[in-house]
This record gives sequence, C-alpha cells and structure tokens, in this order.
Amino acid sequence: MIKADRVVSTTCPYCGVGCNLMLHVKDEHVFKVTTPFDGPVNHGNLCVKGRFGYDYIYHPKRVTTPLMRKTPQKAGERTQAFDRSEWHEVTWDEALDYTADRLVEIYKRDGSDAMAVYCCAKATNEDNYLLQKMYRAIFRTNNVDHCTRLCHAGSVVALQQATGSSAMSNTASQVIQNDVFIVTGSNTSENHPIIALQMKEAVQKHGAKMIVVDPRRIDLVDMAELWLPLKPGTNVPVFTAMAYVIVEENLVNHDFIDDRTEGYTEFLSTLETFTPEYAEEISGVPAEDIRKAARLYAKADKAAIYWGMGISQLSHGTASALALINLAFLTGHIGREGTGLNPLRGQNNVQGASDMGSMPFHYPGYMRVDNPDNRAKWERAWNIEEGGLSLKLGLTTTEILGHAHEGGIRALYIMGENPMMSEPNLNETRKHMQQLEFLVAQDIFINESAAFADVFFPATPFAEKDGTFSNTDRRVQRVRAAHAPRGQARPDWQIICDLAKRLESRLGVASAYWDYSHPEEVLREMGNVNPDYAGITYDRIDKIGLIYPVPSMEHPGTPTLFTETFPRGRGKFHPLEYVPVREEADDEYPFILTTGRLLEHWHGGTMTRNSVLNDAYPEARVEIHPADAEIHGIRNGDPVKVQSRRGEIVVRATVTEKTTVGVVFLPWHFHEAAANLLTNDVLDPQAKIPEFKACAVQVFPAREDDLARPDVVVNRGRY
Ligand code: SF4
Repeated sequence: MIKADRVVSTTCPYCGVGCNLMLHVKDEHVFKVTTPFDGPVNHGNLCVKGRFGYDYIYHPKRVTTPLMRKTPQKAGERTQAFDRSEWHEVTWDEALDYTADRLVEIYKRDGSDAMAVYCCAKATNEDNYLLQKMYRAIFRTNNVDHCTRLCHAGSVVALQQATGSSAMSNTASQVIQNDVFIVTGSNTSENHPIIALQMKEAVQKHGAKMIVVDPRRIDLVDMAELWLPLKPGTNVPVFTAMAYVIVEENLVNHDFIDDRTEGYTEFLSTLETFTPEYAEEISGVPAEDIRKAARLYAKADKAAIYWGMGISQLSHGTASALALINLAFLTGHIGREGTGLNPLRGQNNVQGASDMGSMPFHYPGYMRVDNPDNRAKWERAWNIEEGGLSLKLGLTTTEILGHAHEGGIRALYIMGENPMMSEPNLNETRKHMQQLEFLVAQDIFINESAAFADVFFPATPFAEKDGTFSNTDRRVQRVRAAHAPRGQARPDWQIICDLAKRLESRLGVASAYWDYSHPEEVLREMGNVNPDYAGITYDRIDKIGLIYPVPSMEHPGTPTLFTETFPRGRGKFHPLEYVPVREEADDEYPFILTTGRLLEHWHGGTMTRNSVLNDAYPEARVEIHPADAEIHGIRNGDPVKVQSRRGEIVVRATVTEKTTVGVVFLPWHFHEAAANLLTNDVLDPQAKIPEFKACAVQVFPAREDDLARPDVVVNRGRY
C-alpha cells in the first residue's frame, strides 16, 4: 500500500454539490482521493468524477508553457490550431507583454465596447473577482459574463424578479426534512449524484414522497410517488395547472399570501385557462396526475422544489422558473427548513462566480451596474475616479460572440470556458470566433475554443492552487493546493494580476490594487463591500465552510433564506402565459431533441475526456425510444445521423425506454459528435439563455463509415 507524503483537504472541481475531497499525494502526484465521513456536504460519499476524475492534471497534452501562434491570426481568417507545431513556446514576459500591447492597442483605438471577457465557473471566487475587476476597472466595460448564462440564467432572473435573491433558498441536505418534494428538469442521479443519494434517503428512510416531472424516465422515477412525463418545454402549463388545482380546491395558504406576497389577485385572473385538461393537451401529462401532484405538494407540511436545466434552458426559461415560484408562494412552502425553491447549480463554482460579479448586469454581491450608488461603492474600493466606472449594462455570453465584428467586440479573453462546445448552434459560433481580432485563452488544455487563440496562458487546475468555491448551498469552502504547479503553469489569480499591472502601466494609470500576496487578501477586499461575504475569512471556513449570507465576523451563516422577509420585501406572483418552444416537431424534423449531461463526463469535456473517465464512457450515444426505433429501422448500437436545421452529427443509437416517444436525447460532452451543432440559438428574451432543451431533429440510419466522416463531424479536432 502506498503511504502518502501528505493528505490535502480541498473541494471537488466538478459539480455544484461541492463535496469535500482528501487528495493523497506521493512524490508530488495525487494518487488517491478519499473523503471524510463527517464532511458536512457529502457525509463520506463521492461520485465517480470526484473519486477518480483527477488524472487529467497529469495528462501529457496538458499545456504548462505559455504559447503564441506561429502564424499571426487576422479577423475573418482565424483558424483552429490543436497541433502544438502551430504554436511556439514563449516566456511568461513575452506572452504577457504581447497580450498587454494588443489589448491596449485595441482599447485605445475602439474603446470599452470592443473589449469582452468570459470568466469561469470552474475557477475560484478569487480568480473570478479579479478578472471582472480587471475588465471593469481598467477597460471600463461590463462586457463580463460566464456560463451561468448557459445553465440557470432563467432561474436567476425569475428568482430575482420574484424574491430579490437568486440562490437556492435552502440547503440540499434539508431534503431529508421534506414531506413531499418535486424534482423537475434535473437528472439528479447523473448531474448531482450526492444530492440524489440524499433524495433517495429522504424517500426510503424518512418516508418523503417524491414527484418527478421530467420528459425522461430518469433513475429517480423508480422511487417516485408520481412521474409526470411532460413534453420538453411544457413546464408552464403543467405547473400552472397545478396552481389552478390548488386554488380550485382551496389548498392555498392564505396567511402566507396575505403576509408575505403581492400580485395574487392579478395572478388569479390569469389562471382560468390553465385547467389540467388544457395542460394535458399540451404536455401529454394526464390531467388526473397533475391534480394528484398539486394535492400532494399543497397538503404537505413541508414541501420543496428542486430543479435543473430542464426548467431554465428554454426560450421561456424565466417563465418556467416563475411557474415553480408561484407554487411556493401559493402554499407558503418557502422560508422554513425543509421547504424552498432550489435550483441545483451545475458547475462547482457557478454560484461563486455569479456572487463575484462575473455577470454583465451586476458587480459582486448582485449590485446593479446601472445604479450610481453601487458604482460609487466599487469606485472607492478600486481607487477609481468618481464616475469612472461604466453604468452601461454589458453584453451576455450569448451576445458577446454575436457582436464579434467590425465596430463591435474585437478582443476577447476566455478564462477556462469553451464556447466552441457550450454555445448553441456551433456552426454559427465558429463564424463568430473567426471574426475576432484578438483572442486570449487561459486554460489547462488547448480545447476547441483555445485552438482559435493568439495567446495561450497555461493556468493551474484546482489541485495546484488556493482559494474558495461557493457550492449550490451557498457554502463557501476552501480549495487548497496539493502540490506546486506543473511546468510554468500559474494560478489564474496570479496571471490576471501580472497582466493587469502591465495594462495599467501602458495606459499610464495606477489606480486599482494588484499586489496581493495570497488569494485570501482578494476575498477580504471583496467581502469589505459585499455584505453576504463580510464575515467570511479563511480561518472561519478552514474546516467546514460557511453558508452565506454571513454579514459579520460573529455570524454563523444562513442555511435557510427568507424566514422573515424577501430581499425585495414581498414575494411577487407573476401571471404567465404558455409560449411553445420555438421549434416543434413536424414532418421534416419529427423528433424533439433534448440534451444533457452524463455521470462520467463534465460539460465540454476538457477535464473528463482527458481522464480515465473517458474509458468508462468513450463515445456519444443518442437515446431513442423502442417504438420510434422500430418505425425508423434502427437497432441498438446502429450508427445514425441526427440532423437539425443547423447541423448534423453521426452517433450510435441506444434504444431505450429511458426516453419517451418522439423525444431523443444527446449528451453534449463529445467534440466529435457535438450536440450543440444541432441546438437552437434562440434566446429567452429576459435571461438571454438559449433553448438547449428542445429543437426539432430527424434521425436516419447511417453507415459505419459515416461515424468518421469529417464533413459530418464538423466540430473537428482532438486536443
Ligand atoms: Fe464532485 Fe459533484 Fe461528484 Fe460530489 S457529486 S464528487 S461535487 S462531481
């Protein structure tokens, strides 16, 4: 048995559960991962990603030297370079100086509106705080965003509108206190496996009743009291029909409505359309099951709703989330332990990156950028002249690349994100990437997006840096370096500070502070202005973290929100109308494609496809129902072409009852069969989130040879 030189306690870099990890290190290599039995989040459990998915740190293709392209790239002619022979290795000084020169040249010529940055939900709070600070304080732009736009933007906007806060109201572990809970739009067993364990415990050991509302027969259905298999994108009629039943049968919590909410009368006036029969016609869910679900939820003493991207990733994602919020307000299932509105956040630090102001409308702490009082607070914190920061709302992730043209965005800085896998309609995204005049990539591999860059900054993965992540429970936890960075790689926060100082010196300004000696100083600077983090220090979170809001050094944290009031005062009901998904099935494209994640993989695959996890699940598969497969002459394992109005891929079929008739499912981790070549880039008008969860496709039998056809496998390249 190998004896570790040391064991380092840290936080999992994959999903928003935020499991505690113990990294066992021998000879400067992590060789094993365990977890403490008394960890407050995962209680001794880990999923396959947290347990085994760390070996990408040592993958031979990881880049640990700064790189610059050998062939200078021009707007309109930009190409992808996965092969190291197309890059040359340079020193950090060369890479940083060249980048500073190019960014300043473009900024001086075209101004703030030409500059944009993607922050990163995998990076630490400190990394994200500094990157948005660099763009706001130096380039005076709010063109700052990250992948929250692509996952829960609809939930964030809806919760802000209805409550004034956008985080989960309760912790996930409170599920064992629920009498009834709804899981919707979330394949929790694959996407948040440790929360799924807690849900199963709630049912098996504590007698809770679970209602699953999902187009797929996900694993949790086996334990559910009720499964409502709705057609993708029909959340609003199903949940509003539940509200109809709750009102019709007088199951409403009148005291809660009177004391804590507003807008009930207007909401009631729009309910009459949403009978369960109307919802059945649209969604395919039997009206009687909608009635049963409404009664179960409303009559419970403690009930909660947990949701995933099946709610938010729609062109009406905000309305879908508002339909859930209306239910909680009707019944008063909010503001107490064991109740609540709980969007399960995807990435390990998407909550934290949002808290840190990595968004175009908000400074850290969700302070609107168009509010002069908020601006003044951050001007004082960053030593910026009065009126120096921009009041103009920035562009979102989904808008930034669409504005990559003459007179629009000219320079883009990408820290850790991979839009060439994660944006919808990738053939369009490719054209936008080609239009950039200058592109910086800061990552650990040359992924599909970094391959377009002029400069590559080699950053460190979680096991080589210090900082904090904030999980889906709002728990701020420590991230600790297990060993020194490989090669010349540097932690993101150090790269940003080194670049920021060069930018300021070229612009002849020296306002904001960049000389931090440790990320803890960065968190303190942010917490001095953002009251949610005011009482959080590295000392206080050394063992088990703290759940924000933590407004003072004595405050113990806040696991349950809204116990007395909502941040906006009263919770606001929102009347809703049914708006169908933008592309419905028709004769030409008879299936609805819905997309999602797999247990073994993570998002664009930069980490898991370069890990042993890829051996466990090496290729994309499209799931198709046996009835549909028979009609189209498709057998399990056959190659099939999946085609939408925007692109096509060839994959093998899995014939399974996990999906429903007329619906096919694709994971989106595989660059050689990228699901986002097919998806629709229409946006929710408020949240600007794309409709990843529903587009029309055709599925044809294909030949074995087609699996490798480069004209079909459009998102080319291995890294
Ligand atoms: Fe990591 Fe999430 Fe798995 Fe926990 S459940 S080990 S946080 S991927």
